[in-house]
Amino acid sequence: MNLNLEENEDALLAPYAMKHNFSGSRMYPEAPDPYRTCYQRDRDRVIHSKAFRRLGYKTQVFVNTEGDNYRTRLTHSLEVSQISRSIAGALRLNRDYAETIALAHDLGHTPFGHAGQDTLHQLMRAHGGFEHNCQSLRIVSELETRYADWNGLNLSRAVLKGMMKHNRIYECDSSLIPLAEQRGRENPCLEAALVDHCDRIAYIHHDLEDALDSDIVRLEELMEINPWRTVYDEAEKSSQGFRGKREPLRIRIVIRMLLSQTINDLIAKTQETLLNVKPESLDDIYKINKTDYPVRFSETMKESMGAMQKFLHEKMYRHPRVVQMSARGSRIIEFLFSEFMKNPEMLPGHVQGRISEQSSARVVSDYISGMTDRFALKEYQNLAGIV
Ligand code: MG
Repeated sequence: MNLNLEENEDALLAPYAMKHNFSGSRMYPEAPDPYRTCYQRDRDRVIHSKAFRRLGYKTQVFVNTEGDNYRTRLTHSLEVSQISRSIAGALRLNRDYAETIALAHDLGHTPFGHAGQDTLHQLMRAHGGFEHNCQSLRIVSELETRYADWNGLNLSRAVLKGMMKHNRIYECDSSLIPLAEQRGRENPCLEAALVDHCDRIAYIHHDLEDALDSDIVRLEELMEINPWRTVYDEAEKSSQGFRGKREPLRIRIVIRMLLSQTINDLIAKTQETLLNVKPESLDDIYKINKTDYPVRFSETMKESMGAMQKFLHEKMYRHPRVVQMSARGSRIIEFLFSEFMKNPEMLPGHVQGRISEQSSARVVSDYISGMTDRFALKEYQNLAGIV
């Protein structure tokens, strides 16, 4: 049953897409699912994981408790997967495979956004460091426990490799060494590169929207940067009613237009490059010269995205409100790390149990990085004696 499903889908994919027969089996052999392809099954395993549910309470830029309308890592991951799926379909790439990588791409993030990751990395310097991509791999291959006979989600090797943004893994994750070595020798497959681009598309547009909604950025300031001004003018020209609308609606209209222009640009430029470079197989993609790599934006779009990203860095990520939130997050993580390292007996029993297999620092880092913003805050208040 399942083989037919996979064969039927593969017949519709481009010759260089991640077909099902490239899934590379699983570390622990399992019989195929009768009603789902291997990538659909992998996607479902990610969705049903604990780490995925916790993304709903982890900061993207704003701490989760700041407001109900802002992005969290969960809504961001869903948005990345939606964009990735649409573009993969347009390019005849494997949609389910791209969706799985997108849904899993941020699983390893710490609480309190990038500040959390940077702080944990500093604290882990002498113990192999911390990096969210390595942590995502560690979660799906080791930390999630849902099966009697193995740790992790037992995803297909192709998904594990697609999740690797680089060839680094933690020393303790030795089962991933062969895949990481392979990844180090190859370009990413098109679906993985696509998800990476979609991650950037999603966060730039959505951070802009959150920045405007939170009054951290004013509309007049954005009017100074080029892609925004141009699209705003286009919106005014294309609809007579635009000018009379409330500001929040005008903002949403412009962001929607910017987002679809960016997506269309990525599809068109990638299609054009594919036509010029003419890869004939997935192997061609793995080996293709970096300058010919097909997934890309046009030069104009690259510039526009750079301008928006620069704007966000200056006006949003360095805004005193965001900097204060980050500083507070960093202090909480430092405190928790030092407390648990001093006294590992405060860790929950099932976490403590892992210390015999791993260094206590890695176990503490796994525990803290898995926390949601609000849980980390609660633990901090609890251990610091703040009532
Ligand atoms: Mg992301």
